[in-house]
Amino acid sequence: MSRSRTDAEALDRSDPLAFARERFSLPEGVVYLDGNSLGALPSSLPERMDRVLRDEWGARLAGSWSAGTWFEGPTRVGDKIARLIGAHPGEVVACDTTTIALTKVLLAALDLRPDKSVLLTTSSNFPTDLYAGSGVAHLVDRVVLRVVEPDDLTDALAREDVAVLFLTHVDYRTGAMFDMASLSAAAHEAGALAVWDLCHSAGAVELDCEGAGADMALGCGYKYLNGGPGAPAFLYVRREHQDRATNRLPGWIGHADPFSFALDFRAAPGIAAFVTSSPPVLGLTALEAGLDAFSGVELRALREKSVQLGELFLEGVLEAAGDHVEVASPLEPGRRGSQVSLRHPDAPGVIAELARRGIVGDFRPPDICRFGLAPLYLTYAGVHAAAAEVADVVSSGASVISEG
Ligand SMILES: *Cc1c(COP(=O)(O)O)cnc(C)c1O
Repeated sequence: MSRSRTDAEALDRSDPLAFARERFSLPEGVVYLDGNSLGALPSSLPERMDRVLRDEWGARLAGSWSAGTWFEGPTRVGDKIARLIGAHPGEVVACDTTTIALTKVLLAALDLRPDKSVLLTTSSNFPTDLYAGSGVAHLVDRVVLRVVEPDDLTDALAREDVAVLFLTHVDYRTGAMFDMASLSAAAHEAGALAVWDLCHSAGAVELDCEGAGADMALGCGYKYLNGGPGAPAFLYVRREHQDRATNRLPGWIGHADPFSFALDFRAAPGIAAFVTSSPPVLGLTALEAGLDAFSGVELRALREKSVQLGELFLEGVLEAAGDHVEVASPLEPGRRGSQVSLRHPDAPGVIAELARRGIVGDFRPPDICRFGLAPLYLTYAGVHAAAAEVADVVSSGASVISEG
């Protein structure tokens, strides 16, 4: 039998992450299951942003570049992300956007396999990742993009021509999660590098880039990291590759001595060379507030809560309305990221009706209702109530909208 509201409230009382909830400002009466699209507003941000705007930009103006902490932003914020993805300080920078970060990382990875020609990924990847992959293949003469079904990855790696395997760790539609360690090992076995897009993992799934053998990785700042709309992305280059990995989109901020204004590019040591442009100070301020909301949060506890929220949600939906939906996500929690997706013939109608009831999920074509489970700010009681509403909407036909 599925758990009651009282059971869910008991889980909230014993939740070791309950302290993190007040670090976010969310509207009253809403259960926000869309943090995998845009994370919640960190409560500390308005005041911090106000300080940066008035004191740093407003009062000290350009002097803040030399006097303050603006230039170190990408590496300082990168180090905070490093903890969340199982990397070391000095292996991550926050800069650019996801698509640009992916482009930089793919170009750098391809450089390390000059004798191979294939960039390998799956058709399930997020469209922008496919577009970036094909853009990179156009830029580098010897390279072609090969796109296969997820089930065909092992066969595709058996061919000897793969330079770089790049995958999105958690599927944005279904929430299915690849096994980073075994696929990275398979890539290495085939003589390829493994690049991971962590957009739907960072901040919600326990990650160990170091231990799982990721060569390079990237991800976005505005989903589970709560960095705000259009937040800077991040990129990771494993330390052992940093001496040979090159930023193929170099700029003056990644120069070893930007203020020499030298005519020739000389890369800054380490990960700093991957910064191209002036740090987006306001965006980094917001992202840093999002990351600081993770202080004192253990990744293991984060993942544990995410799994428990997923189980509670699925149990509530399936017991009451199992005949009316198809679960698009893996049922086995170990193979699922931090979201549950349901297929329904009127998915947009279901999402719209839920929104009317204060349950915010989102729709992905053709028939997916997506529910993201951000463990930092969701409660078990909220997720329990959301599951009951989802079950009610899909089983009562309340979703069916006029256009049919
Ligand atoms: C959200 C997301 C992006 C977003 O790319 P932007 O360049 O930041 O707009 C890219 N890839 C994946 C897998 C995503 O989930």
